[in-house]
This record gives sequence, C-alpha cells and structure tokens, in this order.
Amino acid sequence: MNESMVKGKRKIIFALLTLIVLAAIVFAVWRLAGGKDAAPQTGRVDALSYVMELKLDAENDRLSETVTLELKNDTDSPLTEICLRDMTPALLKYAAEHHADEGNEGKGSELLFVRQRGAAEPRVSRELDGTLLRVALASAVPAGATAEIEIGLQTDIPNRQDRFGVQVREQGKIYSLSFCFPYLADNENGVWNTDPFFDDGESRSTDLADYRVTLEAPESFVVAAAGESRTESGRTEAEARQMRDYAIVACDFMDVDIFETEGVRINNYYLKGAYAEQYRRLSELVTRDSFRIFTENVGSYIYDELDIVQCLFGYAFGGMEYPGLVMINGTSHYDGVGPELGAQTLAEVITHEIGHQWFYAAVGNNEYSEGWLDEGFTSYLERYMFMLTPSETNDYIRQIDRDIPPLEALQKDMEDYAEVMRGEMDGMYINIPPDEYPEGRAYGEGEYDGGYIFLLEVRSLLGEERFAEFLREYYRTYCLKVAGTEDVAALLRKYDGGSAMEELLRFYLK
Ligand SMILES: [Zn+2]
Repeated sequence: MNESMVKGKRKIIFALLTLIVLAAIVFAVWRLAGGKDAAPQTGRVDALSYVMELKLDAENDRLSETVTLELKNDTDSPLTEICLRDMTPALLKYAAEHHADEGNEGKGSELLFVRQRGAAEPRVSRELDGTLLRVALASAVPAGATAEIEIGLQTDIPNRQDRFGVQVREQGKIYSLSFCFPYLADNENGVWNTDPFFDDGESRSTDLADYRVTLEAPESFVVAAAGESRTESGRTEAEARQMRDYAIVACDFMDVDIFETEGVRINNYYLKGAYAEQYRRLSELVTRDSFRIFTENVGSYIYDELDIVQCLFGYAFGGMEYPGLVMINGTSHYDGVGPELGAQTLAEVITHEIGHQWFYAAVGNNEYSEGWLDEGFTSYLERYMFMLTPSETNDYIRQIDRDIPPLEALQKDMEDYAEVMRGEMDGMYINIPPDEYPEGRAYGEGEYDGGYIFLLEVRSLLGEERFAEFLREYYRTYCLKVAGTEDVAALLRKYDGGSAMEELLRFYLK
C-alpha cells in the first residue's frame, strides 16, 4: 500500500465519519420532534398523582368531576399520545341493560374537556367499548419530563347497588362512587392496555399514584373516602398515597366507629338500622382478627388507615375491594335474615375484602387477564387462613349460629372440597382472561376456586412451614409492585425445583 492510497483512504474515512455524525444529529432532532417511526419506546408513562374535585348533586343523582392527572414520561422518547380510561359509558350501558327495571334508561355521561396544561387543546377520540380515550397531545412531553392533564366529566349516577350507583331507602340514600374516575391507562414500552370494562370482574389500573380529593355533598351525608379524610360543612377533603384506584361511599343514614388495630386506624362505617349493633360488633371482631392473622402470616398492611363500609348490594354480591377502603355487603344486617343474620357469610365477606389489601392493593396484578393472582390468594386468606384459625370471630359466630361446624370439621370439609375441585379444574387453566374461558365455564371458577385449590396443593407439596415462608417472601418481594403468574412460578421453583412442582404448574398454569 503506498502513501497516496493511504491519504485517499483517510479522506474516505473522514467523509464517512462526517456522514455518520450528520445522520445521528438528523435522527436525534427528528426523534425529538416526535418522528412517527422513532425507535420503539422503552419504559412507561407513569401516573404520579390525581387531584380530583368532585361535586355530588344528590337531587339529580349526578356527579361532576374535574380530575388533574400529573404524569411522568418515563420512556426514552418524546410523548405525543396518551390513553386515558373513562369507564362511565360502559357502567351506564351495563346499568341500562342489567338494571333496566330500576329506571336507568337514558342516563349518560359527558366528557366536558381534556386539556394539557400550558399547551393547545389536544385531539381526543373514543375507542374500544367507549372507555378508551386516545389523546393526541398538541405539545410533546420530553423524555423524563412531567405534564398535567385536566379532565372534566359529568355523569349521571345509575340506580344500582354496587360499584357505581345510588340506592334509595326509606332512611335516605347511599352512593357508591367508584370505577367512575378517569385515569391514565396502564402502558409498557409504548403499548397501551386496552382491556375492556368487565363487570363480572375487574380491569383496573395497577399504577400507584397519590390522590388529593375534595367532594362537595349535602351536609347530611357521612362520607367514607379512602386515605386520610375529614368532612366539614358538606366538604370532604381526603389525601391518599400510593393507591391503584380510588373509592368513596356517601350516605345520609350512616355512622362511623373508629378503633385501632396493629397500629392502623380503622374507620368502621355502619348503616343506622335495627341490626346496626350486630353488624358493628362483627365487623370490628373480623377486622381485628384479620389484621392480626394477615400481619403475622403475610406481612404489614401498607397504609395508615382502612375504611370498612357497610353497603347494601342485595343478596348476590359479597363486597368490593379498593386500596384503603372496602365495600361490604351488609344487606343481611340491615334488612335482617333469620335470627343469626348470616353471621358466617358476613365474616367471610369482610375478611375476604380485607385480604385484598394484601393481594390487589399492596401486591398488584392485572385483574383482567390474571385475576387469580388477587382472587386466588385472597380466597386462600379468607377460606383457609382466616376461617380455620382459632379467633374471637370464630368463637362468636359459633355462639350465635349453632349450625356452623367446629374448626376441625370445617378443615375436613375444606380438604374434601379441594379434592373435588381439583377434578373440576381438569381442562382449564387459572391464568386466562375472561374472553378465553372454555365453554360452559363461569368466570370465577379459575380465579377464585382454581387459584385457591392451586395454593392448597402447593401448600401440601411444600409443607406448612415452607409454604408460609413462600407466602411471606412473595408479599415482601412484590409489595407496591406488580406481580405476574410467571413471577409466582419462578418463586415456587426456588422453593421446590422437583418434578411434582412442575406437574402442578403445568396442570394449573397456561
Ligand atoms: Zn375478591
């Protein structure tokens, strides 16, 4: 090789390098401008907080909402589009179809505005079952930056007992305000979660955010709002940290009893009525025992307070869990059924919903496609851990209802039931979304019973002590995080890498 050739080569290399640098600059500028085919995003858009200003019009059963979402673009690319969820169209449609005789025709909700603070009006389109709002931002949010999105919404409140609705009783009105607040859709690496609204189960966000809430309601109403709250002259102010969802119950024939257990303030809301004292007493017993048993066997509760709220869901549903607040179906202890009022069933409901504070509120999961992760673990806490552990509750419910079998007999019943259920689980997996359910199967068979039986089988394989360790480690590892089925499987393999465990995992998990 001679010198001139080398010089020529250097020139070519220099020209090539210049080209590469120029291309890199052009690419970076283009991406900053939000280029369409930018490299796939990695990371997620995180909802940091929601400031919600709510007005309850109890005359017309209407709720006005102004919700300010602060989000952070934790991806590596500028953010030009976000997805929000507003479940009110699906809730009202469901109420019109399933509670038609309660006068839910013609009820609707209206999205008043979506604004990006400090930017021009974004373009908004509704998709899916009407619950997905795709928002094209007028001003891109740079990687690592935050933005504020304001959402104005007005919605009729359907006549319905659970989730989102109002119920009129002789004594007054009771409002369940949940599933009705707009929120940022879950997302990962540029893909937005588009699970539909699902009334037999849930499809809520797993994202942890702080909440600052004000609710204006008539002065006669007692308001249970998640987090730390106080009400003065019809204005409730509440603050909550690190919650995946938010819920409120407002009622003008409700009262509250406050006590402390395991260092947690319990606001025990009960309805004024003939059986209020029986309800209040049982609710307190179950709460104290549940906190003692779950704290000892699983781990600490994550918030400072819990609202336990008696609601009237009729005789079909048990209750509903939200972070820091549970709705308990206390119909039996309001309308009254039989001399024992169904004390055991009520105890099961209360401990189940409290159990969700550990599995759902603390350890998050996709409730739609992997509902077993919260329902299965919570069913284990309810049916096996709570109902089979000696406690004041267990003594009390046997005092008032002589038909409830003693603990030893109940344990035997549970084990027989597990045996039968295992046969029933042949041919279906527990970690499938509702739209993949095999024909002839009802939603819940996999999530509640299947998940529960799976854990019982794991328990008998690992032995009582190792299983207890597994449960504590699972809680500790995924507390304030989101767990998936594969995470549970991986942890179980750590406890037992043998073929029997593999067989179990293959049998129950897809
Ligand atoms: Zn549940």
